[in-house]
Formats: sequence, structure tokens, C-alpha cells
Amino acid sequence: MSSVAAALAEVRERIARAARAAGRDPAEIRLVAVSKTKPAEMIREAYAAGQRDFGENYAQELAAKAEALGDLADLRWHFIGHLQRNKARVVARHAHLVHTVDGAALATELGRRALAAGRAPLRVMIELNVGLEAQKQGVPPGDAAELARAIRADATLRLVGFMTMPPAGDPDAARAVFDRVRRVRDEIADPDVRDLSMGMSDDLEIAVACGATIVRIGSAVFGARTLPA
Ligand SMILES: *Cc1c(COP(=O)(O)O)cnc(C)c1O
Repeated sequence: MSSVAAALAEVRERIARAARAAGRDPAEIRLVAVSKTKPAEMIREAYAAGQRDFGENYAQELAAKAEALGDLADLRWHFIGHLQRNKARVVARHAHLVHTVDGAALATELGRRALAAGRAPLRVMIELNVGLEAQKQGVPPGDAAELARAIRADATLRLVGFMTMPPAGDPDAARAVFDRVRRVRDEIADPDVRDLSMGMSDDLEIAVACGATIVRIGSAVFGARTLPA
């Protein structure tokens, strides 16, 4: 077994254990393997081990990898990085799901580009900024309902849920952030808007306990990143 395959098996077991501990069905939780800065060959290894969902943070890197791995027709790309409007075209062409919509103008541009690429409606999530760090991207929970309304009214987009990144290294803060995001999702009360993208290598158990339906795992699958991410 390759080291990537072994690491994937371990992460899947962590997810299953966390799900069972929370009284949840492990099948409700989708693993996105975050492959940013890692070579296409490692993605092939993960694919050979059954992994289909991969996360990328940079539009240019996503485009290059989508081209290099174009023969893997059922591979799904998740865009999880900060997205500027001038990169919306590239992302709309490749992404199965964009996790990081943080404004109405970006949403409109993504939908427009998806339509032009014959990929509408494009699945998106709203990135929520619940943490207190001023530099972090995402919309405050109080603005979520209005942005959700705008996206749901746009036929070129399909809102499926919410994503967040808690402060690192603070499990209690992470739990509070995840709970808050779940409440925002619950208040929308739309069965089509049910995904919660939260949980990374260090806090996936907490995220699963708090209701995550998508976890984004990088280093625990592919090893530490040597390039800045
Ligand atoms: C890099 C990254 C991840 C994965 O982080 P790990 O700690 O390596 O699991 C998840 N989500 C986002 C948005 C990221 O940028």
C-alpha cells in the first residue's frame, strides 16, 4: 500500500470513529483531500485508493492540476481558497463545489462564468467568519441570511451549505465556531442547504461531533506541506 493510501485509510477510520461516537452514520461525511502544493502524482495515488474529492486553494494550481489529471473523469475538484472575482472564470470551469463564496458580487460572477462554461448551476457554499480574527475572510453570521437569499435567487448557482475555518490550536474555540455555523445553517431551514464544510487535520473529530458533512483534510493525507500554503 502506498503511504498516501495508508494515510487515507487512517483518516477514513478517524472519521468513522468520530461519527460513531457522535451517533452519526459515517456515510454522511465526505472527505475532501486537500492537495494544495502537492504534485499530481500524489493525487493519482489517492485516486487509486478510491479518493474522488480533492481540495485546492489557488485558481492557477487548480487549472494546472485539472489539466494534468483530465483523464480521471470522475474526480471532483473543490475550491477552498480565498477567491477573487478575476479568478472566477477558471474556478467556475473546473470546480464541482466552491466552498468560499464571501459576497454577492463574487457569487454573481461565478454564476455568470459557470453559465458561459455550460456548467450552471454551480454548487457553492458561503464561507462564514465566526472567529474574531479581523484578517480572516468570510462573511459574518449576521450577513449570512441575506447572501443566502441572493444566491438562492440566482438560477446559475446552487447553494448547498456553509464553510468555516476556526482559529488554529484552540479546540474550545473551534467547537464554538462550528456550533455557530451549524445554527446559521439550521436557521436557513432549507433541506437543500444542508452541508457544513468544517474540520481539518487537527480538528476533524470536533467538527464531526458538531455536524460536519464535509471535512477538508490536507496534511494528515498528504504529509506536511513544505511550500507556504
Ligand atoms: C490547507 C487547508 C485545509 C487543510 O488543512 P490541514 O491542516 O493540512 O488538514 C483545509 N481547509 C482549508 C481552507 C485550507 O486552506
